[in-house]
Amino acid sequence: MGKPTGFMELRRQNEASLPVAERLKNYREFVQHLTDEQAAIQGARCMDCGIPFCTSGCPINNIIPDWNDLVYRGSLADWKRALDVLHSTNNFPEFTGRVCPAPCEAACTLNINDDAVGIKSIEHAIIDKGWEQGWVVPLPAQKKTGKTVAIVGSGPAGLACAQQLARAGHGVVVFEKNDRIGGLLRYGIPDFKFEKSHIDRRIEQMRAEGVEFRVNQQVGEDVPAQKLKDEFDAVILTGGAEQARDLPAPGRELSGVHFAMEFLPQQNKVVAGDVLPQQILASGKHVVVIGGGDTGSDCVGTSIRQGAASVTQIEVMPRPAEQEDKALTWPNWPLKLRTSSSQEEGCTRDWSVTTKAFLGASGKVEKLNCVRVEWNAGKMLEIPGSEFEIQADLVLLAMGFVSPVQKVLEAFGVEKDGRGNAKAATDGAGCYKTSVDKVFAAGDMRRGQSLIVWAIREGRQAARAVDEYLMGFSDLPR
Ligand SMILES: Cc1cc2nc3c(=O)[nH]c(=O)nc-3n(C[C@H](O)[C@H](O)[C@H](O)COP(=O)(O)OP(=O)(O)OC[C@H]3O[C@@H](n4cnc5c(N)ncnc54)[C@H](O)[C@@H]3O)c2cc1C
Ligand code: SF4
Repeated sequence: MGKPTGFMELRRQNEASLPVAERLKNYREFVQHLTDEQAAIQGARCMDCGIPFCTSGCPINNIIPDWNDLVYRGSLADWKRALDVLHSTNNFPEFTGRVCPAPCEAACTLNINDDAVGIKSIEHAIIDKGWEQGWVVPLPAQKKTGKTVAIVGSGPAGLACAQQLARAGHGVVVFEKNDRIGGLLRYGIPDFKFEKSHIDRRIEQMRAEGVEFRVNQQVGEDVPAQKLKDEFDAVILTGGAEQARDLPAPGRELSGVHFAMEFLPQQNKVVAGDVLPQQILASGKHVVVIGGGDTGSDCVGTSIRQGAASVTQIEVMPRPAEQEDKALTWPNWPLKLRTSSSQEEGCTRDWSVTTKAFLGASGKVEKLNCVRVEWNAGKMLEIPGSEFEIQADLVLLAMGFVSPVQKVLEAFGVEKDGRGNAKAATDGAGCYKTSVDKVFAAGDMRRGQSLIVWAIREGRQAARAVDEYLMGFSDLPR
């Protein structure tokens, strides 16, 4: 702890964002990382707590107080050490430093009666400096084991797992059904939150570490599950949870009603330079986004950039309180009103609203028929007489994901849990292993829809489990 009085003297400074009018002109990232001097001040706010709740709040247990202190000290050698500490728990800090909701900050001790340390902004600054300085280099294994591993799915879980296993000396092949690597980082999250060059340079690093990537390979269809089991010493299923929750109300079949994941990937492809025969576009339309989470927000920001006439986002749950009661919630992630960068770009939000029907003419959606609801002991009750309509030329369903696509799990014949995820424990002997010999599962495919930071954690831990399974022991971190 470099500055014992820092937390009393220094204020939290958030990262700067480009003004809304500026950032809406394109799909580039608009959040600017802290300068070295700003990061040092933010690092100096850390109290180096005896019990660092930030670290236990972080799913990958980032060693946060250490890099806060190193950034405060501020020599180039300190920054390099900060990067090494960061990489010791996280393969891809540039992913989490941009799009993690930062449960570590909710858990920070300073958050009890002050603003939390700006942990995510410091992480962002460290990894960006690492790339700028050329410190992020391939780390190929010194010795090859001769063992081979197939990874099915190239999201953050698959990538973290692949990198760990390649560094442990195994021959790793990543199979991806899409035309590009990256999972939801590539085709879910828009470029304005996360530019895809961050994935591309990691792919380059991983190729140099020996990882082979095979795209346009749908395992269970183009590539039989049995073939992978026959040809590889272990298989890890990291195919995500792609089965979107539908809204089977009357009129669902009208044109103009789409899943978020039909809409978002198309724009990411266009930003990547692809020419699409047809694109679902919000331009000039009244857009209604159903669902108030991250996916819904991404639909809002994309619709606004495409030039929507209006964007409305509705949510079935009640409007949360502006502020949490920290005495009740700390150090856990609190439910409170959050406004995403996309929502602040210009969208009308409404809560406690459910959709009864999609209304339209000539096969096209024109309106939503909605009703207000109240919640009583977990039960949703419609409020009589509260029906209303919302104009809608484009409706985007962003109500979460119910499970992995079942086909690939069935192709491998793995046992599933009650929610249709691949069943595998995360601790004890045989962790991350499914009911099928040599087949493991991690990330959203095992835990259900979650976060990038959890996917990285599971990818890393599954890598250790597979390494142990193949070699009888493992030096990879837990
Ligand atoms: C729109 C959107 C925005 C989000 N925003 C955030 C955010 O801001 N912050 C955050 O932390 N989390 C966010 N999330 C959640 C986060 O993206 C996921 O939790 C995370 O990507 C899960 O990682 P994963 O590796 O388990 O799976 P995924 O990222 O889903 O990757 C799975 C990959 O497996 C491939 N695959 C599936 N089946 C097969 C098969 N049979 N053969 C070959 N390949 C296959 C898929 O094509 C995909 O590329 C968001 C999710 C969505 C949908
Ligand atoms: S909980 Fe907050 S103040 Fe304490 S060590 Fe972690 S970042 Fe620093």
